[in-house]
Amino acid sequence: MTSTVIANIFDCMFAKSAAFCAGKDAQATKQSLQLNQWPVVGCYMKSGMDRLIGNLESKGVTDGNVLGAVRKVPREQFVEHPFRVRDLCYGDSPLPIGHNQTISSIYTVALMTQALGVCKDHKVLEVGTGSGYQAAVLSQLCASVFTIERIRDLSLKARSVMESLNAYRHNVTFIIGDGTIGFSEYAPYDRIIITACSPDIPAPLVNQLGEGGIMVLPVERGGSQNICVVEKKNGTVNVKDIAPANFVKLI
Ligand code: SAH
Repeated sequence: MTSTVIANIFDCMFAKSAAFCAGKDAQATKQSLQLNQWPVVGCYMKSGMDRLIGNLESKGVTDGNVLGAVRKVPREQFVEHPFRVRDLCYGDSPLPIGHNQTISSIYTVALMTQALGVCKDHKVLEVGTGSGYQAAVLSQLCASVFTIERIRDLSLKARSVMESLNAYRHNVTFIIGDGTIGFSEYAPYDRIIITACSPDIPAPLVNQLGEGGIMVLPVERGGSQNICVVEKKNGTVNVKDIAPANFVKLI
């Protein structure tokens, strides 16, 4: 794919992820899953986190694995300094991440992740790395995440955040490029998530979704956005809307 540039510094990780995808290195996969531990969010964050989890449950996010991943990933590390205060980080609203982009609210991340129905052996493609928070949440739940970002600075920063946490996930591969054309090298994907609003359901991504696969994305129709769940089964594609949305648009 000529329009997709993988930064050289990611080559090493890329090779490891490729091995996971091909199922060539079961030992390495097992080890990486054992390493799947984020630093515990500081105690000062705890009551806010409990409130947040209660709030997510009351809004219909009840999947224990998803809630567990939300608990583990320290959202404050993925936002800019001025927003690193408890009420903002765990207050469940979108926040700016620079370049006119935003990190989605935790509810939106949790809802979309739940709708994806990710299993631990899944290979997941994300379009719109942004801060890296959604990729970090997904990385807790599946075998490998390929995350594509159009803005180079954001992709590099997201990777650096994961490294700084000493929790750089051996199952996350960062790609810089146009995610609407997917990343055919590692297709098919079990799950695909798009975290910026699309005017339609991108055909290349439907093609790269495996049989029985699920894609979750915000789509704008008639001036309003909805989170859609796309299921590919027996060669047919079913689409249903699950919630209204308010995302930045794909660029
Ligand atoms: N998932 C992110 C939030 C995404 S905001 C998080 O957890 O923080 C949407 C992101 O999609 C932005 O970073 C934007 O630059 C990126 N984006 C927009 N259009 C894109 C495209 N065509 N391909 C890849 N990334 C794109």
